Amino acid sequence: MPDRFDQHAVRHRMKLLRENGDVTLYENRDGVRCPACGDPFSRVLLTERRAHSFDPSGTGRVCVTREDERLVVCAHDS
Ligand SMILES: [Zn+2]
Repeated sequence: MPDRFDQHAVRHRMKLLRENGDVTLYENRDGVRCPACGDPFSRVLLTERRAHSFDPSGTGRVCVTREDERLVVCAHDS
């Protein structure tokens, strides 16, 4: 697994839901795998902010991968 989640490499397999400067949210359309657990995620949030608040909409797993300059947060629906 690569050290960094490369959203550009899988861009065609995801739908861009929101882009807001340092925060990007994608919906998984084609079984892209979570860098933390390896299972396909439902949505992925890429944030370069130091802190972030979430309002979880489901009860599925949430995985967090810390990279040098950002956080990768994957939400799984279960
Ligand atoms: Zn995961």
